[in-house]
Parts: sequence; structure tokens; C-alpha cells
Amino acid sequence: MAVEHASPDRLRRRLLAALGAAGVAGMLPNARARGRRPIGVALVGLGYYSRDLLAPALQMTQYCRLAGIVTGTPAKAETWQRRYGIPDRNIYDYAGFDRIADNPDIDVVYVVLPNHLHKPFTLRAAAAGKHVWCEKPMAMDAAEARAMIDACRTHRVQLAIGYRMQHEPNTQAVMDLAASRPFGRLQRIRAEAGFHGFDGASGDNWRLDAARGGGAMYDMGVYALNAARYTAGAEPVAVTATPSVQRPDIFQGVDETMRFRLEFPHGVTADCATSFGENMNRLRADCAGGWYELSPFQAYEGVRGEASDGRRFDAVIGATPAQQARQMDADALAIIEGRSPRVPGEEGWRDMLALDAIFASARAGGTRVEIAAA
Ligand code: NAD
Repeated sequence: MAVEHASPDRLRRRLLAALGAAGVAGMLPNARARGRRPIGVALVGLGYYSRDLLAPALQMTQYCRLAGIVTGTPAKAETWQRRYGIPDRNIYDYAGFDRIADNPDIDVVYVVLPNHLHKPFTLRAAAAGKHVWCEKPMAMDAAEARAMIDACRTHRVQLAIGYRMQHEPNTQAVMDLAASRPFGRLQRIRAEAGFHGFDGASGDNWRLDAARGGGAMYDMGVYALNAARYTAGAEPVAVTATPSVQRPDIFQGVDETMRFRLEFPHGVTADCATSFGENMNRLRADCAGGWYELSPFQAYEGVRGEASDGRRFDAVIGATPAQQARQMDADALAIIEGRSPRVPGEEGWRDMLALDAIFASARAGGTRVEIAAA
């Protein structure tokens, strides 16, 4: 199953398989073919997700292309230049990043950095007059997320959050059920996203460092939280949360596992969990007249599910990284057509409001904490 941390080699093999199956001609960008200049994207932070998913996906997109990179490591810049033919003028380091304002090749800055850097780089990109795509979790807290939204509004640029599941067709089918309610009144949601990892972790890993936005809740928990919200089709009003650590030698000051119960209006509850210690990947809705679920609900491919009336959620969009290509094409098209992206900053901010309450409840020993109104 392809989840966030599938091995790079496996992903590369799948990309090659996808390119082979579709035929390179079939993947020629439409925007380019039609003579329209594709949206130029600069990736900021060339770690795992940029290297193994986003850059390969940008070779498959129709409406955007990899135009530039921002990195603190000159050796990486050289490798990327060679691999993707990026001209010298489109290579930046973190200190010189603000000069991107003068670069007409770059329309979008995609922030793919550790979580504590999402806000500062979004603010700098917006000030440079560039649209911003920002990875999940949007920020460290709701105040940061609000500042990012305000900055993008002030500088009249778009802000889209990289919640790729919201671009996946089986997920979209489940999102639609929140409005159509074919199974009657929603009663209970379960959303669980986690994996077992970090055995023998050593060295400097920001996912284990509280100051840089480490811990399972920021990394995987936002998938469960976001799914609970789109399955409910409503905003949660309160939460109780309990963190736990099974391997204290590895997890110091960050959550290894977090269980949280969200309360929605009309007595609907969502029992959610996330973990760096346990494999879990399921979204289920129990309603007065039936149920539906996706398992896995958070994966690079193979998202699938079923419902009590026999319907199946089994649309296929292609091998990894087709999902990332679909997300970036949708966000590029929103820029081209001058409309709001499918997952705007406000969506990330609403998760952050709940996340603030989850961490407050966890700090207070699992007491009930009300979530600030959006
Ligand atoms: P990574 O550790 O592999 O890469 C992070 C990059 O940031 C590295 O190139 C590193 O050199 C650079 N960096 C700059 N300043 C740093 C600092 N102070 N500390 C550590 N690294 C620093 O991380 P990643 O897995 O690529 O994740 C990056 C972002 O992408 C995170 O926000 C993560 O949540 C998100 N992500 C999203 C998905 C998804 O499916 N949407 C998947 C993976 C990661």
C-alpha cells in the first residue's frame, strides 16, 4: 500500500510503470500543447516529498511545470538542475529566496519544508507576489494559519493547502455523501491514520522535534481530523484528546499516538486516532440507515471502500504520483481561471483551530476543550 512513507525506490518504479503504461505522448502537457504557458512552480525544500513525489508528479502535469527550486544544499541544486533542466536563474538558496519576486518564470512557490517553516516561507512568498501552495499541516497553530491567509490576501495571491486526499475521486464521493445523506442521519464517525515507524531513529529528525512541528498529530493526525470534518460536513465544537508514548526513548516531547474525540453539532461524534507506532488507515461513517467506509482512506493510491447498500468506491486515477499531479493541476487551473482553489487556506486554518484544542486538551489531561468558532 502506498502511504506517505512508502519507499522511494518503490515509488520510482511505479512512476516509470505509469509513464510506460500511459505512453509519453499521452502525457504531453495540454497547456503547453495549446500554446498556453504552464504555471511555473518553485519547490521550496528538496526533501523526501519534493524529491520522490512532487517533482516526478510535475513531469506528468498538464497545467504546471517544475520551473525552480529553493534549497540550502548546493549539491542538491546541481543534481536537480541536471535531472530536470532547471536554469541557473531559477535556483535559489533560503537567504536569497526573496529575489524570486523578480523572476517571471515562477508563478507559484510550493512550501515543502518542516512544519515550523510553513508560515515564514508563505509570508515571504506572498510578499514576493507569488501564489503559495503549502504542505499539510498548514502551520503550527491557528494564529499562524490566519497570518498566512491574511498575507496572501494582502498581496492578492492564492493560497492552497496540499491536502491531496481532497483531490482523490473516492474521497470526493464520500465528501459528497455529507450533503446527500443517502443513509439517513449521521451518528458516528471513525477516522484513524497512522503507521509504525522510527524504530532505532537517530540523528536530527524534525518529525521527532516539538519545536519544528514533530509528532504524529501534526504529521498523520491531520488526515484523520480533516476526514472527520469533511465526513461530518460540519465544524467540530469540542474535543477531548489523550496522547500516549509507547517508546519514550524515541518520542520525547512529541506525541507518538493521539486519540481524540470530536463533538459535532446534533450529537454526532468522531472517534479519531493517529500514531507513529501503529498501522491504522480507516474512515467510517455510521448513519441511522446504513454505513460507508474507506480503507485505506489515506494513501498515494489504492484508496477504496464500500457502503451498506452494496455501492463500492473503487475509482482508479493511476499509479503514484498521479494523485499529486491531479492536485497540482487542479490548483494550477484555479490560478489560470482566477478562481479559488479546491482546498484554500481557510480549510487548513479550520483544522488548526481544532488542532489547537486537541493539544490544549492533551496538555490538560484529556479534559473537554471547546473549539474556537471559525
Ligand atoms: P524531509 O525532512 O524529507 O524534507 C525537509 C526538507 O526541508 C529537507 O530538504 C531539509 O533540508 C529542508 N530543511 C530546511 N530547513 C530545515 C530545518 N530547520 N530542519 C529540517 N529540515 C529543513 O521532509 P518531507 O517528508 O519532505 O516533509 C516536508 C513537508 O511535506 C512537511 O510539512 C510534511 O508534512 C509534508 N509532507 C506531505 C506529504 C503529503 O502526502 N501531502 C507527504 C510527505 C510530507
